[in-house]
Amino acid sequence: MYLKKIELKGFKSFADRTTIDLMQGLTCVVGPNGSGKSNITDAIRWVLGEQKVKTLRGAKMEDVIFNGTHRRSALGVAEVSLHFSNEDRRFPIDFSEIVLARRLYRSGESEYLINDAPCRLKDVRELFMDTGVGTEGYSLIGQGRIDSIISGSSEDRRMIFEEAAGIVKYKQKKREALKK
Ligand code: ATP
Ligand code: MG
Repeated sequence: MYLKKIELKGFKSFADRTTIDLMQGLTCVVGPNGSGKSNITDAIRWVLGEQKVKTLRGAKMEDVIFNGTHRRSALGVAEVSLHFSNEDRRFPIDFSEIVLARRLYRSGESEYLINDAPCRLKDVRELFMDTGVGTEGYSLIGQGRIDSIISGSSEDRRMIFEEAAGIVKYKQKKREALKK
């Protein structure tokens, strides 16, 4: 399983549809200050269900929608999709590619889609649980995260190992069962 492609349209500085193809292995993004490098990682977090606007470096969720420049007017919708290769069936869905998309309209209306089918944020979270991908997953290491892992409590560190071991979904199911 790996991230093959990112498609952005109307997300932050990416007004036009932009496709970023990724190789299996290491990809480096280089560019001048303010050219949109961090906006790409914001986009990845956002599609995976990030709800904290601060993590996305905005003041309100609407700030992820392209808000215009002196030459171009603002757009009404932001859309990002992540194309994952699922040749190894790491995602428990019988498709060799999984496309996860999120859309947000200025009206506040928002939607998530898995392979074009509308779904809930809960479905997105469940799909990525135990894969290491996800807003809290260990594959997204933001600035300062290493420090917090090293200096964090053993409970916090345990969560990382539990995700790597693939038992988070069972703990979640247990919690839900106990609630019923
Ligand atoms: P640095 O090297 O300084 O870290 P960077 O390449 O990571 O820079 P970003 O932070 O990704 O740059 O991009 C910042 C740019 O994105 C700014 O020019 C900002 O105006 C633009 N931007 C952010 N949100 C929006 C938005 N909603 N609409 C239009 N442009 C936006
Ligand atoms: Mg940056």
